Amino acid sequence: MRLFDYFRANSIAEAVREASTEGTSYLAGGTNLVDLMKEDVERPSKIVDLNWLALKKIQRMQDGGLLIGALVTNADTAYHPEVTKHYPVLASAILAGASPQLRNAATAGGNLNQRTRCYYFYDTASPCNKRQPGSGCGAIGGVNRHHAILGASEQCIATHPSDMGVALAVLDAQVHLSGPKNDRVVAIGDYHRLPGDEPWRDTVLAPGELVTAIELPDNTFSDRYTYLKLRDRLSYAFALVSVAVVMRMNGGGIEEARVALGGVAHKPWRNPDAEALLRGQASDKTFTEFADALLAGATGQGENNFKIPLARRAIVRACHQAANGTPQSQTDKRIV
Ligand code: SF4
Repeated sequence: MRLFDYFRANSIAEAVREASTEGTSYLAGGTNLVDLMKEDVERPSKIVDLNWLALKKIQRMQDGGLLIGALVTNADTAYHPEVTKHYPVLASAILAGASPQLRNAATAGGNLNQRTRCYYFYDTASPCNKRQPGSGCGAIGGVNRHHAILGASEQCIATHPSDMGVALAVLDAQVHLSGPKNDRVVAIGDYHRLPGDEPWRDTVLAPGELVTAIELPDNTFSDRYTYLKLRDRLSYAFALVSVAVVMRMNGGGIEEARVALGGVAHKPWRNPDAEALLRGQASDKTFTEFADALLAGATGQGENNFKIPLARRAIVRACHQAANGTPQSQTDKRIV
């Protein structure tokens, strides 16, 4: 057993100050951190417990947006009336993930910061550049059925496991941070990193920085949306490929559409330039051309080669679901 110091923070300033000690981890729901500690992957010398901070509310903002406190549980977010009414793609994505028990404990901030579920990352007997820089990557040439087809590097081919983050990507969410030097706001598209040659850095968080809230801009995407998640089991499984889509229609045509992929890269994968292809007619041809553009450069690692045609078909299907106003149900999981 590894000993660690425990500190219960009563304010954001206190939490950030305490986290300035190297080797400190923040604790919120603990649904990922505690697992990682049990597996000896994370070895914090100090835990700063955030659970007494006043970050458990969902509030309307003056400009019409919604502010989700970092400690709001995934369940409370998914069932909040403002979220189900105005941001149903977010509710749907959250309910596609984990289990009811986990969603009751896991928090908004923790969901963003959860680590990859790459098998080698959790196995301390295996090489893993993310866990131990410079040790190699067991997944390259190894068991990589769940790994990335986009944005990978020679150092790491892991995927980001969040469903919530994929929906946040199409909603253009903003992540509010407090740190030892200042507070700042980071666009969700810039928050998670590609692995590059620093695969141990999942996000742009600086040492000691804390997620305090997630801001959703006011939007008009509550009618045409979907979150389609394809996985090995119908529940309690991470995505092989997931697709979040929101659209605004005008007459029979698409005025604006946003699409993000989960399960295929080290971050939710979105390409706003490619989304311009979706303006106009909602058709198989439009959606297929867009899918090819979004998947440009996709490369399999062997066992996960199937993800490329799977993602292509999933994108087309999800775009039809959104355009038709028939979002994927997360209770009846037959694909519509
Ligand atoms: Fe580690 Fe990334 Fe390789 Fe997995 S894919 S073994 S997380 S370096």
